[in-house]
Amino acid sequence: MIVAANFKMHKTRKETKEYLKELKKIDFNGVKVAVFPPFTALMEDELIGAQNAYPAINGAFTGEIGLEQLNEFNIKRVLIGHSERRHIIGESQEFISKKFDFYKEKGFEIFYCIGEPLEVRKKGIDEVVKYLQNQLVGIDLEYEKLTVAYEPVWAIGTGESASIEKIKETHAEIRKFTTRPVLYGGSVKPDNIKEIINIPNVDGVLIGGASLDVETFKEMIKIAKEIK
Ligand code: PEP
Repeated sequence: MIVAANFKMHKTRKETKEYLKELKKIDFNGVKVAVFPPFTALMEDELIGAQNAYPAINGAFTGEIGLEQLNEFNIKRVLIGHSERRHIIGESQEFISKKFDFYKEKGFEIFYCIGEPLEVRKKGIDEVVKYLQNQLVGIDLEYEKLTVAYEPVWAIGTGESASIEKIKETHAEIRKFTTRPVLYGGSVKPDNIKEIINIPNVDGVLIGGASLDVETFKEMIKIAKEIK
């Protein structure tokens, strides 16, 4: 069972340090926990991963960080393809797959996000699967350090997670493409996490908003521990 926190553009370095200190007061007891803070809060810690990274060691890529900066903090985990990067920043599948290849080649653990927008979901599961397949182009789906995160765009940050039925049918489809762990993300919170992680083919959760409060995140880890 994997429980991961995506801080997005929230928290300072100081706040992240305090958060980690508080978080580590509980025993994870076999639950794998990952925390993705903003760049300025990257630090050497086994829980930490980067929300994004450029596919190069270093170079003329203003506003980006690459392998050299991640190595400084011994970071070996990266999130790639988050819908906010795909849809707000405008990252293409070609670019995303370049990032994947680069960090795979460097032996990173990769949390790779996919998810359809509402207009695609409205067309039904076949269209959703086609859309997701396009987000998997160029990705080695059997990479041993890959974790996939299915995050329907319409459920991210909306407070309304996908229904149990929709998560179930979509994860069953994704399972046909990979044997690696598949997380669900999209408005996961303490009152729905139990139901979600009990769904077949859900191997954990990626949590945005509800991870920001460390006590809430700890509560969700505790629930995951019981189910594991
Ligand atoms: C996310 O950003 O990956 C996410 C799932 O956000 P939220 O939990 O806020 O919907």
